[in-house]
Amino acid sequence: MTLDSTADGRSDTAVFDRLESEVRGYCRSFPTVFTHAEGAMLRDAKGHEYVDFFAGAGALNYGHNHPVMRDALVSYLQSGGVVHTLDLHTAAKARFLETFEEVVLRPRKLDMKIMFPGPTGTNAVEAALKLARKVTGRTEVVAFTNGFHGMTLGALAVTGNSGKRAGAGVPLGHAQALPYDGYLGESVDTLDLFEQMLADGSSGLDLPAAVILETVQAEGGVNVASPEWLRRLRKITAEHGVLLIVDDIQVGCGRTGPFFSFERAGIQPDIVTLSKSLSGFGLPFAITMFRRDLDVWQPGEHNGTFRGFNLAMVTATVALDTFWRDDVFAKETERKAALISERLHAIAKKTPFVKQHRGLGLIQGLECVPASRATAVSKAAFARGLVVETAGPNDEVLKLLPPLAIDEATLLRGLDLLEAAFAHVTRRHEDDEEDEPKVNGGWEPVVHAGAEVCR
Ligand SMILES: *Cc1c(COP(=O)(O)O)cnc(C)c1O
Repeated sequence: MTLDSTADGRSDTAVFDRLESEVRGYCRSFPTVFTHAEGAMLRDAKGHEYVDFFAGAGALNYGHNHPVMRDALVSYLQSGGVVHTLDLHTAAKARFLETFEEVVLRPRKLDMKIMFPGPTGTNAVEAALKLARKVTGRTEVVAFTNGFHGMTLGALAVTGNSGKRAGAGVPLGHAQALPYDGYLGESVDTLDLFEQMLADGSSGLDLPAAVILETVQAEGGVNVASPEWLRRLRKITAEHGVLLIVDDIQVGCGRTGPFFSFERAGIQPDIVTLSKSLSGFGLPFAITMFRRDLDVWQPGEHNGTFRGFNLAMVTATVALDTFWRDDVFAKETERKAALISERLHAIAKKTPFVKQHRGLGLIQGLECVPASRATAVSKAAFARGLVVETAGPNDEVLKLLPPLAIDEATLLRGLDLLEAAFAHVTRRHEDDEEDEPKVNGGWEPVVHAGAEVCR
């Protein structure tokens, strides 16, 4: 690929301001025009390079444009492989299902069926909620404080964030929020409340169809549920015939180490949603998996035009083949997690506005007080050539989400840039209490000569 094939030297953002809806979001934090990407690096139209610690919000666990997946994709296309098929049988889908069974399901003794609900994460969540209600004949679903499950109405109803919920424009019903692990401080087991409410016929909580949760809340600010809490939740739900839905869209596919985030608790959910990094290549792809006996769908009862995106199935199969046939990749993730953890601890120690370091695997965060410091650090990082986002109810958590496949040199370079950004914001607030940096703030993105990652 030559530079000219995709970049026309255009670096101004006027067309987006003029034509793209005000709803655009992430581009406001990283206001440049990106043209190329490889591995954990992004390049913009001006030739500036950025270490990517955002990784498509977890959609790029194996990095940008992984060469093995790209080659498979190109050769599938050149061979005339079928691209769009609704839910017709295809060779690409057969290979994906067989590989998923062999590499993911069987080694974990998960006797589950797989549904293709439509290409996005929220599609997978909607299908999970529908199925849970259909199976149980109940309407209510329990979700947790700070949970995030997507933007369509059903998923939004089980999402905590009031700003996102406000976009619905209609009442969001049939969902009950309960406190997530740690929500009431370390000394309170929040499941005492759930268990008591289930036992008490006067609690006001109707027996729910399901409980839905992330085992590590990503958008909600990097909140990690303990294995003990997860096991207790599994026990309570099983005792009451309530289905347990684990939304592993962001922290599945190895983000916390093992393929599924719930493996560390040794539990088996009844329903699991996967998307984001499932295709491995950043292509839209989602599945909803469930216990075999829960498969009560009528043919076509849940439907969708883009449930047969064969290109995503091709790259997803390559991703499983390449990374998940043994535990080398998961071990590598754990090693990198320890490295990041150490560096974040050091940053936390010398940064007065960092309140807490939290996370698991390659999703880690630093909570800042006041919250605006996290955004200031994200800006300072971007100015230095690092893409890193914030999360949490008030965007108070600087959230690190590097590709799992990041090489160590790039990881260290990103951490150095992050440390410099924290130091900058610390210095700035020692001098004055101005929160918002000036336009460009005098920072110029560094062009990293010698890091020829985008060819
Ligand atoms: C991103 C995300 C979703 C929604 O996925 P989309 O593809 O954006 O619809 C749902 N649940 C979790 C946990 C997510 O991180």
